[in-house]
Amino acid sequence: MRVLVIGSGLAGINAALLASEFADVTLLCKSSLGETNTQRAQGGIAAAVTALDAPAIHAEDTIRAGAGLCDPEAVRALTADGPAAIQRMLQLGVNFDRQRNGELSLATEGAHSTPRVLHAGGDQTGLHIQSALVDRLAEAKVDVRTGVAVTDLALEAGRCVGATTDARETLLADAVILATGGAGALYQTTTNPSNATGDGIALAFRAGAVVRDLEFVQFHPTALIADGSAFLISEALRGDGAVLLDARGDRFMASVHPDAELAPRSIVAQAITEAMRRDGVDHVSLDISHLDSDYLRHRFPGVYRGTLERGHDITAGPIPVAPAAHYHMGGVYTDINGRTTVQGLYATGECASTGAHGANRVASNSLLEAAVFSTRAVGAIGRGPEPARPPSDHVQRLHTHAQAGAPSWPRLRQTMNELVGITRTREHLNAAVDRLTDWSERGEAPTDPTLPLATLTSRLIAQAALQRTETRGAHLRLDYPDANPDWQRHSLWQLARE
Ligand SMILES: Cc1cc2nc3c(=O)[nH]c(=O)nc-3n(C[C@H](O)[C@H](O)[C@H](O)COP(=O)(O)OP(=O)(O)OC[C@H]3O[C@@H](n4cnc5c(N)ncnc54)[C@H](O)[C@@H]3O)c2cc1C
Repeated sequence: MRVLVIGSGLAGINAALLASEFADVTLLCKSSLGETNTQRAQGGIAAAVTALDAPAIHAEDTIRAGAGLCDPEAVRALTADGPAAIQRMLQLGVNFDRQRNGELSLATEGAHSTPRVLHAGGDQTGLHIQSALVDRLAEAKVDVRTGVAVTDLALEAGRCVGATTDARETLLADAVILATGGAGALYQTTTNPSNATGDGIALAFRAGAVVRDLEFVQFHPTALIADGSAFLISEALRGDGAVLLDARGDRFMASVHPDAELAPRSIVAQAITEAMRRDGVDHVSLDISHLDSDYLRHRFPGVYRGTLERGHDITAGPIPVAPAAHYHMGGVYTDINGRTTVQGLYATGECASTGAHGANRVASNSLLEAAVFSTRAVGAIGRGPEPARPPSDHVQRLHTHAQAGAPSWPRLRQTMNELVGITRTREHLNAAVDRLTDWSERGEAPTDPTLPLATLTSRLIAQAALQRTETRGAHLRLDYPDANPDWQRHSLWQLARE
């Protein structure tokens, strides 16, 4: 059996390692192995691993944050398989931080009702996970090819049988696993690496798979913007007492939400955007300098070093922060075993929509999702080639042009930032859809072959955001500021066949 894995983050490498136990595996990634969202993760990975916690409590917390759109079956799978996923990571060599007595050290983060977030190297969890996985990959029988972008999926009688690369090579496989990560880099301001451009969504959509809930893009409230990139300032700082200050030096979150700085991410991001607009500035300030300097350096070594490299010191005073595109809840529709609606095609990690996050992801559930559902997907491949049953909600059809065009990266990213950003309106979204449709239908053939994929994914996000005429979770419509019970359903899209 041949298995093709596309992506080298937690979802892709974990799937490749497991599949290599019974199949010939090729893993492709379009950059270096470590250029992933996984590598950048700071805060940690959530799982109910102590006697004081339970998967059912973790599930309740997750569903509460999901704003009515979590799929309970997916949340059950995520939380019930959580402890086993942590065991597997320990076996793979991830050194989670421990207390003096040797027990795992657990942190609390927004929306988790009890300490359940495992971390490594303080706030460098992703780095530790990525390097343990890369080490195991070097020992495994996996054909690894870096710097290779997949630009199309190969289909035969509606079944996925492989993928074509930017070198115009087609690799055939009995099962193809999309693990292409997030879509933050469709935006100008993002915490993601520049290769996180939502390729997997466009690849799957063009192959006929159903995609789901693409309008739900999470913006992280606090990133330090320097030299054109956004460096994440983990929520854990606000968990430890960091406060947000506007241009006048006043705390503003306490009047916005009872949980103040620890309100849900979408609310904090919106309030910061509003404060910046009101004061005519491009950032607010985050201050944790009232805590002991040695404690801060030890508790947040990654943030401390990262901010220092960018000319700021968290121990000395407030640092400038602004919201940035961070995580995509939407993605390729899958069942709880990673199967898409196209036979032979699987999706896992951030590029998938399992239904576990609903309209708003809980911090530290995404690494867990990548670990749990990549394991389940490989289990499903071992069991046989069934596709997922199509979702029961109504699926909308969208035409796209076979010869996809595209704008330049800066124009695409500027469009997404300005018209499909944190707060949305019909007027802006209409303009975005028109522009993105025009580019995909009539745009020039680009020099970067992944740009048309990014343009199509952007168009799908804008289209879905235009259609959802309500505010729910991370999707904030200024013209529809409330949740609408009629919209307590998923949005599903599929390619219209001629
Ligand atoms: C700054 C930051 C901090 C975060 N902190 C946390 C945290 O503390 N806890 C948590 O749970 N989550 C966190 N997240 C989210 C989490 O890191 C991601 O959701 C998760 O790592 C995604 O893993 P993945 O394997 O799906 O994708 P990734 O790790 O992003 O890997 C994607 C892979 O796909 C490849 N790829 C993409 N397109 C193509 C293509 N066309 N052809 C070939 N290869 C392709 C890329 O090269 C890459 O190898 C954070 C994210 C960021 C950006």
